Amino acid sequence: MKPAIKRVWVLGAGQLGAMLKHAAQPLGVDLRPVDIELDAILALEDDDVITAEREQWPSTVATDQLAAHANFVNQDVFSLVADRVTQKQLLDRLKLATAPWALVEEQHTAASLHEQYGDRVLLKQRTGGFDGRGQHWLVAQQGSAIPQGWHDKVIAEQAIAFDEEVSIVGVRNRAGDCHYYPLGLNRHQDGILTVTLAPLERLTNLQSSAETMLGKVMDELNYVGVMAMELFRLGERLLINELAPRVHNSGHWTQSGASISQFEYHVRATADLPLVPALIKHNSVMINLIGIDYNLAWLALPGAEVFWYGKEVRPVRKVGHINFSMADKTQLIHSLRQLQATLTDWYQPALDWAIDELES
Ligand code: ATP
Ligand code: MG
Repeated sequence: MKPAIKRVWVLGAGQLGAMLKHAAQPLGVDLRPVDIELDAILALEDDDVITAEREQWPSTVATDQLAAHANFVNQDVFSLVADRVTQKQLLDRLKLATAPWALVEEQHTAASLHEQYGDRVLLKQRTGGFDGRGQHWLVAQQGSAIPQGWHDKVIAEQAIAFDEEVSIVGVRNRAGDCHYYPLGLNRHQDGILTVTLAPLERLTNLQSSAETMLGKVMDELNYVGVMAMELFRLGERLLINELAPRVHNSGHWTQSGASISQFEYHVRATADLPLVPALIKHNSVMINLIGIDYNLAWLALPGAEVFWYGKEVRPVRKVGHINFSMADKTQLIHSLRQLQATLTDWYQPALDWAIDELES
């Protein structure tokens, strides 16, 4: 058998690693996700490439070996982005708009934070938070207090009264060429991404400023691969919420809605394969499956592309997603209505919201 073009190892073997592997296979790239708990020596070769599906990992025989490899792409970026302090400092240094913030230090009290940032202040763990976990709202009228032990471990952010949340996913190769997907419109429920819609005609006027913002970050970091930027839209203005130095949930729609998915882009860029603009297909919708059992009815929905992660189902855990990319909006809405009937009450507002957006 002819050898693969390249071997790429991924730090982490969750759903992102699995979807990277799925995208690499038809390219002839041998991509191997590595469980971060693995306690074994890997057969790494000098010309292998290392990437990661997560920003942090414990030190084990395997992760230490991967992290020390000369071809670990974006090696310095992970710790920088993983800590909200250094991530925010990067944005400030690049003069990119982001929610006003401060590291919460010994001298801070809830009162001093309210004085500086207003009645509602969001505390976010510096590291390790995801899906809205590790966050705490200080609300002046509710006798707020900084939780015990949180000093130095969290940043405080001013509450942003955004109109909506959008995100941009882009890719950059070693030569510095960049490509971007159209902005996605994101709906969060209880701090967890529930639905993404893309592309949307009404967001095209924001596309170039979003590309400029993400391009500045990727260039500054000399970044290689896919990066996502979550943004708040306030009128015609964009404010950066946070960065993800990897493939991102709000880019999952590209598996169905683009000729090159974000996973394939990441493989291409890290393995130094050609990058070309991805062709965008139709109206795409991604619905996350969160803490819900597998339902065969999803496979019977016209246009549905089901991605089940094979994880144990637990409350608020992402266990899969469903993509639709359909030229006919009426058919798409019909499928979404059928999907809605298979989902719990928790999903109803998010699906109503998506259908409203498509109908408008
Ligand atoms: P992810 O799952 O994307 O990693 P996360 O848990 O790391 O999310 P954020 O994206 O920072 O955390 O916040 C989660 C959600 O909380 C945001 O998508 C947004 O809805 C809300 N949020 C975050 N920061 C602010 C803010 N400064 N003002 C108002 N709402 C905010
Ligand atoms: Mg987020």
